[in-house]
Amino acid sequence: MSEISLGIIGGGQLGSMLSISARKLNIKTIIYSDDKDAPAQNFCNEFIFASYDDKDKINDFVQKVDIITYEFENIPYETLSEMNKLKTVSPKPSVNRLIQHRLAEKDFINKLNIRTTRYAGINNKSDLNALEDFLPGILKTTTMGYDGKGQYPIKRLEDIENLKIDFNKEYILEKLVKLKKEISVIITRFSNNRYEIYEPIENVHEDQILKQSKIPANINDKIFEQSKDWSIQIAEELKYVGTLCIEFFIDRNDNLYVNEIAPRVHNSGHLTINAFNVSQFENHVRAVCSLEQIPLKKISNAEMINLIGEQIQPYRQNLKLSDNQFFFDYLKKEIKEKRKMGHLTTLK
Ligand code: ADP
Ligand code: MG
Repeated sequence: MSEISLGIIGGGQLGSMLSISARKLNIKTIIYSDDKDAPAQNFCNEFIFASYDDKDKINDFVQKVDIITYEFENIPYETLSEMNKLKTVSPKPSVNRLIQHRLAEKDFINKLNIRTTRYAGINNKSDLNALEDFLPGILKTTTMGYDGKGQYPIKRLEDIENLKIDFNKEYILEKLVKLKKEISVIITRFSNNRYEIYEPIENVHEDQILKQSKIPANINDKIFEQSKDWSIQIAEELKYVGTLCIEFFIDRNDNLYVNEIAPRVHNSGHLTINAFNVSQFENHVRAVCSLEQIPLKKISNAEMINLIGEQIQPYRQNLKLSDNQFFFDYLKKEIKEKRKMGHLTTLK
């Protein structure tokens, strides 16, 4: 049997972990990234460094692969849809286009009668004047944000004067949810009503960057069920193929809200590598390559911490770990403040 070649767009840590899982399944990976230092080149079979609009390089990539997927959402829609004419792109380009735009994404969720925080589109500065009851809130760029980038917390309208906001861009203003907790649900959909879903994961953010994830999440039964039901509903509605993550807020009155959808494997799911028989990465590869679906089994409770910036150093210097601890170094060339450098999972 000839080997399957899986093309992955994006070369960050998620691309690395997808490549590791693919290799285990005898699938070759070819990574396409516009970052010449992309860490995933250490883990894939072949690496193509080019911009996301380089037609010749895109063509080389498409010729070499059987199936295409992606590990981050900020890819031009045209790039994905051109590729999809020649080889299947999973998840579908239209799903990515919807989700990469915060306003379109929230409209979609609300149409399903699923709760989000209150929000409004902002096209110029004066739009904000009518929106005082959305404050305190967070102003976010509608596209291209991640790890809190492109986000401005706003308590009062006067705050806007002190922030250097470029109103040539499009924004969304979201009312701040009085957070009790954040959770995420990871689901891998194979086809109609065929999916594997992981239990909700409890997440702690610091400076809008994920710091810690753990299972079991300390939540009531209603939230446990509702977060899973909503995730299944979203995955089915999108006719999604692959691994999807839904991020949720829980407010102080135990109301559940969808924060956002990630059309890809997700940082909060790194603990699935060690805590389940099949990780979110392996499940993604299985779904997009139409391999066998294996029923999920939990092996252990777990906690994952992200090692951000300099926090990676002691682990790189051979810090002694116990048998229940698993350290991953993303092998990023440069240590930068606020950059995710690796993670540590502890089985409990
Ligand atoms: P990113 O795309 O950077 O992950 P998010 O919209 O998920 O952006 O925001 C990152 C984090 O910031 C959230 O996980 C949460 O901790 C905080 N946050 C964002 N929006 C809100 C909100 N409307 N209410 C309360 N907290 C928020
Ligand atoms: Mg988020």
